[in-house]
Amino acid sequence: MKQLNCPNCRARIVFEQSLCTQCGTAVSFDAGRLQIVPAASKTPCANRDLISCNWTTDDSHPYCRSCRLTRTIPNLGSDRNLALWRKVEQAKRRLGYDLMRLKLPLAVPSGAHIAFDILSHETAGHTIMTGHLAGLITINLSEADDAVREARRAAFREPYRTLLGHFRHEVGHFYWEALIDQAQLSSPFRLIFGDESAAYAGALADYHNRSDRSWNTDAFISEYATSHPWEDWAETFAHFLHIVSTLDTASSLPLSIDERARHTLEDPYLERDFEALLSLWEVVAYSMNELNRSMGLSDAYPFHLTPAVRGKLHFVHLAILKARNEG
Ligand SMILES: [Zn+2]
Ligand SMILES: [Zn+2]
Ligand SMILES: [Zn+2]
Repeated sequence: MKQLNCPNCRARIVFEQSLCTQCGTAVSFDAGRLQIVPAASKTPCANRDLISCNWTTDDSHPYCRSCRLTRTIPNLGSDRNLALWRKVEQAKRRLGYDLMRLKLPLAVPSGAHIAFDILSHETAGHTIMTGHLAGLITINLSEADDAVREARRAAFREPYRTLLGHFRHEVGHFYWEALIDQAQLSSPFRLIFGDESAAYAGALADYHNRSDRSWNTDAFISEYATSHPWEDWAETFAHFLHIVSTLDTASSLPLSIDERARHTLEDPYLERDFEALLSLWEVVAYSMNELNRSMGLSDAYPFHLTPAVRGKLHFVHLAILKARNEG
């Protein structure tokens, strides 16, 4: 996230903020220009009052570019659900920002397009699994509850579990279709990630029933990535987004960096030099973790990028570059 400033007093504004804490100006995020603007200058998203969406709407649509992707909103019968939905949409806007900066399409020629169902169990009447189908992403509202999500993180032995991580992972499944399947990259994909035609539902069921919890930490970024080549791709895709997004944020921090690093940080989302991205990322990830530890917190990036995982990330990068060149 590039540094954002108040259009009135130039104070730093956080992406989620709708009021400048220094001068009190009501502000909005203009997704068309990727800038903070005075709230009074453009039509606000119709969800501004309800869930503090601070984006503007850029045409006659009542909702902003992010909110309009939500096909189903959760049951709003309780204050708790409303508060949780607010957190879900907040994370989703970070994803929307990533996708705009990467210049990735939200729809593909086959007709599949990104949409979200944000479901609470009252609406669904059954247990909700966060998941995906041809661009339709289902998010279990309860994942926005910190205590619930942390309990699941521990139960599933995950080092990292966040709403934003869910969004980046699930959208990765859509981009497998867009960047691999429909872009004739299936052969190299299979060489690197394995044969995705292996039965998917069965592979996931097998994964959840595994009793032996050891896994090949050299070849995969996470345990879940071992479940099926599609999950490996989605996990790796999410990591690519973690990396470029965090490097982008680093670009506005008062860091002492050399010329090459400065160039890489100019726009990590569009950087073509994969090695430059990764070498800078190692420094930033290490620094974030040390800062967190100094605060008594867990590592912000609890992962190790092995040579095999770097190869997979490189492939994600190439697939995104290819789509952007042809798009
Ligand atoms: Zn201000
Ligand atoms: Zn909105
Ligand atoms: Zn997945």
